Formats: sequence, structure tokens, C-alpha cells
Amino acid sequence: MIEEDRVALIIDFDGTAATSNVGMSLIEAFAKDDSWRVIDDDYEKGKVGSKRAFELLAKVLGGTPDEWAGFVDAGHALDPDLSTLVKCATSKGWSVEILSDGLDFYIHRMLERENISLPVRAAALSHDGEGAIIEMAYAHGECGLCGTCKKSRVEELTAEGYRTIFIGDGLSDRCGAPSADRIFAKDKLADHLSRHGVGFEPFMTLSDVTQALFGADDKGDE
Ligand SMILES: [Mg+2]
Ligand SMILES: [Zn+2]
Repeated sequence: MIEEDRVALIIDFDGTAATSNVGMSLIEAFAKDDSWRVIDDDYEKGKVGSKRAFELLAKVLGGTPDEWAGFVDAGHALDPDLSTLVKCATSKGWSVEILSDGLDFYIHRMLERENISLPVRAAALSHDGEGAIIEMAYAHGECGLCGTCKKSRVEELTAEGYRTIFIGDGLSDRCGAPSADRIFAKDKLADHLSRHGVGFEPFMTLSDVTQALFGADDKGDE
């Protein structure tokens, strides 16, 4: 058998695997005040990262895990083609993971709801009985900005010999996407890459990505 490329498919969560920005909605619903927003402007400009925002947020995020869960279940859904995309990729032996600069709480919950089993890298949200705790296991010293640094993960996979395919939509993807071998981008990420002359393939939904990656395989089923 000819040895094929090892391929890693890296999927952003909010706005990509999920149709909405669940993290931002959750924060807006439960933050007791707007103190975490002081960095908003600088974040848009790329001067500070989500790491600092999460540090501030942990102090003001109200609610309990039950309340967070109820909120997530009430109004948020996965892209309906996520499971097809994951099945196509895993059937080819690709490595697939969710890489999110959001919070693992709602990611695990939403994936479990749809019986999708994927490794997740994100900041961990928990509650110690007094208040919210946010732990950032994937923040990276070198970058220093991101709660979960996507660049260091993409580089890690590249060093392990993977050809990396990155799918994302937002500002948190600016750090990691340019290091990937192939990029699917929409919204703010697409604008950012265009401005910086980084090539990418535009998409609207994960159905577009599935078609672009596996289109020829899918036709037999139609
Ligand atoms: Mg996103
Ligand atoms: Zn980073």
C-alpha cells in the first residue's frame, strides 16, 4: 500500500462547527458586568488576545452549570453537515479535532447531543460552588495572546508530519490559520486573510467544505 499523507482536519467551533457564536452569547447572557469588554477594541485590532479577556471574565461570569446548559440547549445548534464532514474525514483515516478559543463546556455538550465524538482543545469552564473557573491549558507562552493558541497547535501537527487543513470564521483564527497548509475561511477570518494576502478557500457552511474536500466521493450517494 502506498503511504498516504497524514492529514489533520482542524475545525473551529463558534460560527464554524456551530452555526452561532455560542461562547459570546453565553458570556453576554451571564456576565454580571461589562468589565471583560475593556479589551474588546484591542482584541479586534489584534493587540490583545482572548487570554486576557478570559482572565477578566472568570471574575464576572455568573450563572451555574445547570443554567449554562439550559441556555446552550435552548438556542444553539451545530452545522447540520458537521457529522458528514467528520465521517468523510475519519473514513479516510484523517485526524479530526475541534480547536476553539471558546469554552469547552458548551462544545462538549453540543457534540454529545449529536453523538459526535471528537477531541476538543479549548479553555475549560467549570464552577467551584462560588463562581466560574476558566482554565487555559492550551494558552501558549510564545503567542501570549490566545486562551487557546491555534498557531501552536497547527505547528505541533505540522511537526508531527501532518498536512493541516484549517476551517474557521473569526478573529481567534487569525493566529493559527496562516500556518495551515490549506485554509477554509469565512466572515472575519476571510477578511483578515484577504487583507494580508493569504490564500484561502471561501465557504458558507460545512456542506461547502465537505463538497470541496470529498465532493467526488459523495456523488455516488446521490
Ligand atoms: Mg469561530
Ligand atoms: Zn496564539
